[in-house]
Amino acid sequence: MKKKRIYFDNAATTPLDKKVAKAMAEFEASFFGNPNSIHYEGQQARAKIDFARAEVAEAIFAKPQEIIFTSGATEANNLAIKGVISFALAKMNEKPHVVTTTLEHQSVYNVVKEMEKQGIIEATYVKPNRDGIISAEDVIRAIKDNTVLVSVIFVSNEIGTVLPVRQIGKHIEETNAKLSMKIYFHTDAVQALKYYNCHVEKLGVDLMTLSAHKINGPKGVGALYVKTGTKLARLMEGGSQEYGMRPGTQNTAGIIGFAEAIKTLKDFEAKQKIAKKMNKLAEKYLKAISKLKNIEINGPMGEDRSPDNINFTIKGMDQETAIAKFDLAGFAVSTGSACVSGSSEPSHVILSLNKGYKEPSATVRVSLGKQNTEKELGAFLKILETIGK
Ligand code: PMP
Repeated sequence: MKKKRIYFDNAATTPLDKKVAKAMAEFEASFFGNPNSIHYEGQQARAKIDFARAEVAEAIFAKPQEIIFTSGATEANNLAIKGVISFALAKMNEKPHVVTTTLEHQSVYNVVKEMEKQGIIEATYVKPNRDGIISAEDVIRAIKDNTVLVSVIFVSNEIGTVLPVRQIGKHIEETNAKLSMKIYFHTDAVQALKYYNCHVEKLGVDLMTLSAHKINGPKGVGALYVKTGTKLARLMEGGSQEYGMRPGTQNTAGIIGFAEAIKTLKDFEAKQKIAKKMNKLAEKYLKAISKLKNIEINGPMGEDRSPDNINFTIKGMDQETAIAKFDLAGFAVSTGSACVSGSSEPSHVILSLNKGYKEPSATVRVSLGKQNTEKELGAFLKILETIGK
């Protein structure tokens, strides 16, 4: 008999919601036209895409024409950063400066690193304290005269830190009022959309990245919110789709699925109710895990942590052993190495916590979804008690 699996990797991806799958299948069955064609079939598909765009926009309090559909968050992050820099380069006599953090996903961190390596930009990477916290002041202090872009993740996909996006946005807005050349503010809100208010105006952001498969939607579709008036260059040449910002025929069924998935998140009270319940569970198990021998929790406790994240390091165990043990026991968790001497590369996020793990160590992320139960977490704790010994 097949052993029951417990899925604890919801920050990597989430199961497709049944309603989303149904909406996508219905769309595929009836609307095959290219939304950019001007005939009847094209117009029908176009109308559906327009409706989906309005849904996504409404969820973050944006205008439909401010939503650019992409192939996912990786592309949206690339478009935001390279798009702003490319435009700024043409206007500046000095190197543009970018402020970002070491808590970013690779699709921000590696893009900035690569542009810095190529000599295109100057960059500052704001580091967290040992608990994984970055204050608004830490980010604001890093802004210089030649700063053109601040890119800060809203919720860390690895250690769950919630960053003070609103305070940073407020400061940038006030600073911009005195500047001739604006500092743009981008946030990767991929992991935030599920539990936090992503109101673009209240947050004071010019650019926001979203991804459908982290909210029980399909893979391969995301969006970049681009505030009206933002000077952004496109990455690819081709047709004039997505207001000329993202050429190529859209992933139509994916966009329909994205809109259906985001619809359920518009009810902010319902969203908070799930978050509260999950937070209670996560806090209880974070506390229990922190008491185990040879285990250290990574990331903040309390309000600064997303309700779905549990991250810890098992000291004295290598990464491969940890992966094998959890998987064999039936748990899908994510393992990112904090090991300095082992074969797998350490994550830049864990390394920046500066914990100085000397011996081989395995970092484990448990990311909860709304389908997970206390019973499942209890079973995980039991396994961990034997594994961690
Ligand atoms: N940003 C964050 C915070 C993420 O968690 C992820 C997915 N791990 C991405 C960006 C990339 O998303 P996508 O798979 O849609 O490219």
